[in-house]
Amino acid sequence: MPFERILLRNVDVPNSEKIGTYLERGGYQALRKALQEYTPDELIEIVKASKLRGRGGAGFPAGLKWGFMPKGDVTKYVCVNTDEGEPGTFKDRLLVERDPHQVIEGTIIASYAVGAHRAFVYIRGEFFMGVKRWIKAIADAYDHGFLGKNILGSGFDLDLSVHRGAGAYICGEETAMLNSLEGKRGEPRLKPPFPAQVGLYGQPTLVHNVETLANVPHIVLRGPEWYASIGTEQSTGPKIFCISGHVKRRGNYELPLGTPLRKIIFEHAGGMRDDRPLKAVIPGGASTPVLTPEYLDITMDFESLAKAGSMLGTGAIIVLDESTCMVDVARRLTKFFAHESCGRCTPCRVGTQRMLEILNRIEYGQGQEGDIDLLLSLCEGIAGRTFCPMGDAAVNPTLSTIKHFRDEYEYHIKHKRCPAA
Ligand code: SF4
Repeated sequence: MPFERILLRNVDVPNSEKIGTYLERGGYQALRKALQEYTPDELIEIVKASKLRGRGGAGFPAGLKWGFMPKGDVTKYVCVNTDEGEPGTFKDRLLVERDPHQVIEGTIIASYAVGAHRAFVYIRGEFFMGVKRWIKAIADAYDHGFLGKNILGSGFDLDLSVHRGAGAYICGEETAMLNSLEGKRGEPRLKPPFPAQVGLYGQPTLVHNVETLANVPHIVLRGPEWYASIGTEQSTGPKIFCISGHVKRRGNYELPLGTPLRKIIFEHAGGMRDDRPLKAVIPGGASTPVLTPEYLDITMDFESLAKAGSMLGTGAIIVLDESTCMVDVARRLTKFFAHESCGRCTPCRVGTQRMLEILNRIEYGQGQEGDIDLLLSLCEGIAGRTFCPMGDAAVNPTLSTIKHFRDEYEYHIKHKRCPAA
């Protein structure tokens, strides 16, 4: 039986972004239920019981994060991270453009649970349509009494507004995003303290990705047991997989966590473009290590991908066929990371540039003996030695392509051309 879409159930309905459509389809009932039937602590327990994990890349348990927020009369904030910038990832954008009220409803419930009366949406500047949709949806939510003072007569107040970033990948990292929101350079902060202790303007702050918050109304409405019955033991619920690359039907597919990679590529995405053989898959966005076809039967969940030496990341599956040059894949992705390095620490700022120079010369037929070892030693000097996780992310494409396709690098250096071409 096909999986009943939960997060994307509205996106193909005409005028899905409008509050009237959302209300007609049962929208804001979860908020009513949350405010009328549960205390904030009960809501935190509900989210813990659902085992919802963050969908922005790290996969941290959401309920635990809510539980870290201090109790009592202290100013707290909630931030909705709409800075989606991982190459291959385009799911949050769909949710915001086509179903913004689902995310707003999740944000209000989360704010009520942690006792925040001020929430911010941080969105990357290039998402013009997303910005427009957020602003209109928030205004309509105020008009209907879902935001502002005394929401639905509950005595709970919440203000929500939109802040546009300038479009920097690093601002998807939560502390860089908080800096940017405060009007500072979008550079990561040292952790600990974590945002739940010292976040926006020095106050406790809950930061969540758009897709994570979109899950919340469904958990409240249908119960944590129902939610935890979807997916695997430790990776529960639905996940939006963004599929791009050499498949017949690229797009967003909502499926239970734990769906086999083979099924996603060959059933949902229609199989390989022009029926060419599969060469490699990047399973969770540009920063996740490449997998080879022998991993096709892996299930797409946090644990299985970690065991295979990769990561679920954002669930952005990039499929590559046999015509792909793997040195070029590493080169292009390294170029992206070198460009997006915020420059705060030397291994990432300088190391990614040196890596790019070497990858450029290998790809363009000027590789030298010893270049592969030089790349590996640069990766060693970057991974685990940077201020934020972007250093690790930046070396993954090179490390994993050398691990699985070292012969292709050697061919480039020896024959001064690409075997795939
Ligand atoms: Fe900035 Fe360092 Fe993070 Fe790179 S690793 S993005 S330079 S803080």
